[in-house]
Amino acid sequence: PDLVARAARGEAAVDTDMPVDMKFGHLPARRRVPPSAFLTVQEGCDKFCTYCVVPYTRGAEVSRGFGQIVDEARALVAAGAREITLLGQNVNAWTDGTQGLHDLVATLSDIGDLARIRYTTSHPNDMTQGLIDAHGGIEKLMPFLHLPVQSGSDPILKAMNRSHSRDSYLRILDRVRAVRPDIALSGDFIVGFPGETEADFADTLSLVDAVGYAQAFSFKYSPRPGTPAATMGEQVPPEVMDERLQRLQAALNRDQAAFNAASVGRRCQVLIERAGKLPGQMLGKSPWLQSVHLMTDAAIGDLVTVDITQAGPNSVSGVELAMAERFPAGVPA
Ligand code: SF4
Repeated sequence: PDLVARAARGEAAVDTDMPVDMKFGHLPARRRVPPSAFLTVQEGCDKFCTYCVVPYTRGAEVSRGFGQIVDEARALVAAGAREITLLGQNVNAWTDGTQGLHDLVATLSDIGDLARIRYTTSHPNDMTQGLIDAHGGIEKLMPFLHLPVQSGSDPILKAMNRSHSRDSYLRILDRVRAVRPDIALSGDFIVGFPGETEADFADTLSLVDAVGYAQAFSFKYSPRPGTPAATMGEQVPPEVMDERLQRLQAALNRDQAAFNAASVGRRCQVLIERAGKLPGQMLGKSPWLQSVHLMTDAAIGDLVTVDITQAGPNSVSGVELAMAERFPAGVPA
């Protein structure tokens, strides 16, 4: 009514704000949920990276209310969730005006039957000291951080309007590792952004070498209509992008395999998520978000203690402690 009245008076009458209730009110109520559940806490983005449509299509950053999130988390746990991943385009920008994501994580960690908390996707500029400290102090916050960087080259990061530098990104990871040395790191990369030279790409490869990602997503740049990057000069030829993507993925695959190999010998809790392909085999997730194959009597939703015994490029396998005690000569396959 207010907009109509303003239009009738000949005033500008455009309202691009979407009420928080309208954004999140459509989320369906859940009856029974998987052991690992997702909970949307934030939508939209104010960052305006020059290649991305999200700020135009999803609007400004909007945080869901604290009480509503806590209520839904309790409902998810009551419906069977043991792990909750908090979701948002810039999830670590979540705020209720006074509290940040780390406060929300701390509150959720008090839910008795909730065993694990994760969050994704994060922006480096919203990695507050509070959230970094939470990785060291909140046991239920899993040792995994997906923190996109997109490029290791400062000129390309500037052209992308990422508003962080290579060094500032690496310093954040140093601070996270200082409080949680075993953290598994994940990232997103774009190769072939307009103007990317071989030297820029070499900076991306050297950043990958410096970080040692446990897993990562990598893509060829693809122009999105209406974004500033789509009309930038110096678009990189497709065959150059292909070749760079192959080199980048080879490096990322190498590091993922190395991370998995380094976890052999670790004892950890595995959240059982589904049956495996073999009789008696189940599949679960380690704290570091690795897929873990194991033989077990445990049911979906159980947390079992596992010794990781073998590593592959995309998963690991392990022996459940209880099974190892029952079958000291080896677990029957
Ligand atoms: S890439 Fe991420 S941070 Fe950048 S504008 Fe898109 S959603 Fe926002």
